Amino acid sequence: MRTAKRIENLPPYLFAEIDRKKEAKQAQGVDVISLGIGDPDMPTPNRIVEAMIEATKKPKNHQYPAYAGSKPYREACAEWMKRRFSVELDPATEVLALIGSKEGIAHLFPAFVDPGEYTLVPGVGYPVYHTGGVLVGGLTHWMPMTEENDFLADFESTPADVLAKTKMMFISYPNNPSSAIAPVEYFDRAIAFCKEHDILLVHDNAYSELGFDGYRASALLERPGARDVAIELFSCSKAYNMTGWRAAFACGNAQAIKALSTVKSNIDSGIFTAVQEAAIEAMLGPQDDVHEMSAVYQRRRDVVMDALSSIGLSARVPKGTIYVWARIPEGYTSAEYAGLVLDKAGVIVAPGSSYGPDGEGYIRISLATPDDRLVEALERIKTSL
Ligand SMILES: *Cc1c(COP(=O)(O)O)cnc(C)c1O
Repeated sequence: MRTAKRIENLPPYLFAEIDRKKEAKQAQGVDVISLGIGDPDMPTPNRIVEAMIEATKKPKNHQYPAYAGSKPYREACAEWMKRRFSVELDPATEVLALIGSKEGIAHLFPAFVDPGEYTLVPGVGYPVYHTGGVLVGGLTHWMPMTEENDFLADFESTPADVLAKTKMMFISYPNNPSSAIAPVEYFDRAIAFCKEHDILLVHDNAYSELGFDGYRASALLERPGARDVAIELFSCSKAYNMTGWRAAFACGNAQAIKALSTVKSNIDSGIFTAVQEAAIEAMLGPQDDVHEMSAVYQRRRDVVMDALSSIGLSARVPKGTIYVWARIPEGYTSAEYAGLVLDKAGVIVAPGSSYGPDGEGYIRISLATPDDRLVEALERIKTSL
């Protein structure tokens, strides 16, 4: 059997080595705690589960879904955007259901990038911004994203020869993994830049609902002119503890929505309609649970920030997301340091380098761990390192 070359071009899975070590540790009887995963530990709110139970009982929902999302789902997405951000959207042409935003990100590549063309990708970010390009024979230009530029991906330094062949650019704030937030002026510069160079701007707003200390994220689509060049992705996954359900949407520029929809209609057949009904409840029902979850993550953030200084690590105080992005001591690669933490403390943290070239020198600590396990993990790191 002969597989395609494009599979060989994918970067190695950085957690593979950690997974091996974890299994070895567990075989020795060590109770390994993972602070590595970006998957909410708290259950989906009951109001959403109840809506799902009712929705699964309807025979109509057992048939193929509407590919682009049901009319009520797309209208609910538009209504959510209006309530949350005062953004007005036409549900028929400016909203598209996604089977999770990961799916949308991956399928933007066949919609926009031909072989040999570039995508501008943040120096650290969600891995599919890069691997989605690899799978279509596209090229990645990494935008520098460092502490010095406040983790705001620097598109302005992109060389002209790259720009001439660039079709798409990703940004994402509040950011995974750096947990940085972006001022709206940065969004405005990105919009102007993409307009000037005829590039599709994609804002992945997966953490829009998780803000701390009163911070609430903005939408890129709130900014003037955004709709001329941009689409924005929102997801129920992190906002409503619904990672397993696969419900998200893309919205914004109608031409881009149409192109993505064309690709998708040749590959998938949409979200289970019952899941769409549950997601409508998620978005339009009472939002108290969202604020409660932010409060839980904020408390855990404080626990981690307190512990970090006694461990000898430094990190900026996150205003959102479910991560702390900590600088590691000199003399280690981030993979080596993550290996050391697992060896000595039996705790898994994510090596920064798995999120892109600018992740070297950092680890990502996830707050999606029950309080008692988080406290124990930090205590173990403190005493053993
Ligand atoms: C979790 C995550 C996603 C994927 O979310 P789904 O909607 O579950 O596919 C996309 N982007 C970022 C930045 C994420 O952290």
